[in-house]
Amino acid sequence: MSRYLGSACKLCRSQKEKLFLKGTRCSTNCALDKKRGKNGPGQHGAQRTKMSDYARHLRQKQKARRLYGLTEQQFRHYYEDAEKMKGSTGDNLLKLLELRLDNVVFRIGLASSKKMARQLVNHGIVLVNGQKINVPRYQVKIGDIITVNSKYKTNAQLKNWIEKNAISAPAWLSFDKNKIEGSVISEPLAGEAAHPIDSQLIVEYYSK
Ligand code: SF4
Repeated sequence: MSRYLGSACKLCRSQKEKLFLKGTRCSTNCALDKKRGKNGPGQHGAQRTKMSDYARHLRQKQKARRLYGLTEQQFRHYYEDAEKMKGSTGDNLLKLLELRLDNVVFRIGLASSKKMARQLVNHGIVLVNGQKINVPRYQVKIGDIITVNSKYKTNAQLKNWIEKNAISAPAWLSFDKNKIEGSVISEPLAGEAAHPIDSQLIVEYYSK
């Protein structure tokens, strides 16, 4: 299945919760903050109230998939990899998703949204340990240093964004504003994802 190219807000409306898919722009003028936007998309959105057990599981899986901008197939691969790892599959899944390079670029505050973070990586602007990495799914490791190339470091928009410090890095990451450089201090723990995700529901969804 190809990547979703439609309206980001429609995805939030179908989840009936804010997924902040447009980054900081979501803090102002969000459709879900208005009464009408709280309904699901489509003509009968307002009528869909009861949720079956299956729908709850599906919705949680879709939420995680949408938050990280993945196709069904990509998400399924992450789940299969998480299953092969030691420990809780749900925690492993969230760890793998959080350690994606595009997610880390967003979480250290180099981009205002995950979509923009992915673009920076795709365009070869992001460096990991001094090497250009243009693969958004690249898994960062403890000790990795993440920055942008020297040309982009002088970008006025980036400087302005960093000065505003709109996003602060979580405890497992650090960011040096002066060097415009982030590092991975530790692996993310369960519950340290940017948005609360009930990974157990996802495990149950795939176990059916
Ligand atoms: Fe749109 Fe609001 Fe979702 Fe942001 S959080 S993508 S503004 S519905």
